[in-house]
Amino acid sequence: MSQRVAVVTGAARGIGAAIAVRLAADGLAVAVLDLEESACATTVGRITDAGGRALAVGADVSDAAAVNAAVERVASELGPPVVLVNNAGVIRDNLLFKMTDDDWETVMAVHLRGAFLMSRACQKYMVEQRWGRIVNISSTSALGNRGQANYSTAKAGLQGLAKTLAIELGPFGVTANAVAPGFIETDMTKALSQQQTDALMAQIPLGRLGRPEDIAHAVAYLASPQAGYVTGVELHVNGGMYMN
Ligand code: NAP
Repeated sequence: MSQRVAVVTGAARGIGAAIAVRLAADGLAVAVLDLEESACATTVGRITDAGGRALAVGADVSDAAAVNAAVERVASELGPPVVLVNNAGVIRDNLLFKMTDDDWETVMAVHLRGAFLMSRACQKYMVEQRWGRIVNISSTSALGNRGQANYSTAKAGLQGLAKTLAIELGPFGVTANAVAPGFIETDMTKALSQQQTDALMAQIPLGRLGRPEDIAHAVAYLASPQAGYVTGVELHVNGGMYMN
């Protein structure tokens, strides 16, 4: 196969940016997909400055037409996407009695509908190539977490989606897995107070917060040829912190 092509959603910053940079360092051409194409410039620049190939793609992963157009563009400008990392995510935390319909729908749309639409659009190229890797970014919150009924449900759903895609696409040489990060230092977690961070730290046996690169290493393994017999699993990358 010529240079493999990856699509990483939500790759303008945080964990997605680290994954995109790491996959490019492993030799893949990378479509850096995020809501705004212009927001992808920094990640694309990090990749191209290091001698890699990257393409900035603007698309809302919850919009079917935008997803289909984005994946077709990746195929024509970079090549058939055979690695997909469903990383785009949002949080709308609240206790159940205060959670609005919009809080619920938004989280389901970005995480679940987004991963479904992206996987459906990319699987065609993977099946044609008889080779593919899908990695869904889940969370320790899939095990249950106070104030995150929407997010926990969506993240558990992403694990179920990976297990089902592993069954359906396995015969075509395509693996599907989930990576479940613990508490990782990104914009998403900046909003926590020092008190909340200290409480979390006390539960982390490895004694430090996670870094986006910790997740990128795990994704790089699951996306590699060497992980060809690993499918339908959840890889927890959390310093030993489990919610339950
Ligand atoms: P982040 O810094 O907030 O980055 C998320 C990225 O996704 C942003 O660039 C965001 O774009 C993009 N995005 C949001 N909605 C989108 C949509 N509809 N279509 C396309 N892109 C969209 O988050 P992060 O901390 O890196 O998290 C990345 C993933 O890891 C998420 O799935 C998250 O749930 C998961 N995770 C994170 C942690 C953690 O501790 N940070 C722990 C467990 C799991 P905008 O900037 O334009 O909104």
